[in-house]
Amino acid sequence: KNLHTIIEPEQFRKILKRMYFELMEKLKDSEDFAVVGIQRGGVYLADRLKKIAFENGFELPTGKVDITFYRDDTFYRLEQPHVKETQIDFDVTGKTIILCDDVIFTGRTVRAAIDEIFDYGRPKRIILVTFIDRGHRELPIQPDVCGKTVPTRMKEQIVVHFKEENGTDRVEIGVM
Ligand code: 5GP
Ligand code: MG
Repeated sequence: KNLHTIIEPEQFRKILKRMYFELMEKLKDSEDFAVVGIQRGGVYLADRLKKIAFENGFELPTGKVDITFYRDDTFYRLEQPHVKETQIDFDVTGKTIILCDDVIFTGRTVRAAIDEIFDYGRPKRIILVTFIDRGHRELPIQPDVCGKTVPTRMKEQIVVHFKEENGTDRVEIGVM
């Protein structure tokens, strides 16, 4: 594998903080909000934002949706992602949902997550937060808050490590 680091731990944490403040700016007129992470990377991102919120005196309820593709080819997939499991133990109706994922690519996963959330009720608003936008969208879906836009080739992949998972906050890019 030839991976190289594009975001080091210190910058990683700066980006997270900036994302948190950008998010709070967008939420300033909402009262009732909750975070939903897309498994697995999105859940780490949601937890980090939740942690920063807590340090700033806010408590954010959280839930998660687990979505995978039938075929495990990241590069060419036209099918609808498949929802494996959802854990949302609060009423989404009337809430502002902060939907988090580590990487946005075609946009199909986010679309599936939005569909899934609507099975649980009718949110007032959904805000999309992604750590990395690697481009190549196939649907008109864009993040409202994004950590970093990283133009990629189709065959390249982004690897996002959260310290909760393996001890370091780091983003790498490479051909897998
Ligand atoms: P999309 O549905 O937008 O095509 O792909 C986004 C989903 O696939 C996200 O849940 C994300 O975790 C995963 N994904 C797509 N491309 C990459 C990538 O380059 N790196 C990582 N870590 N995940 C990716
Ligand atoms: Mg994912």
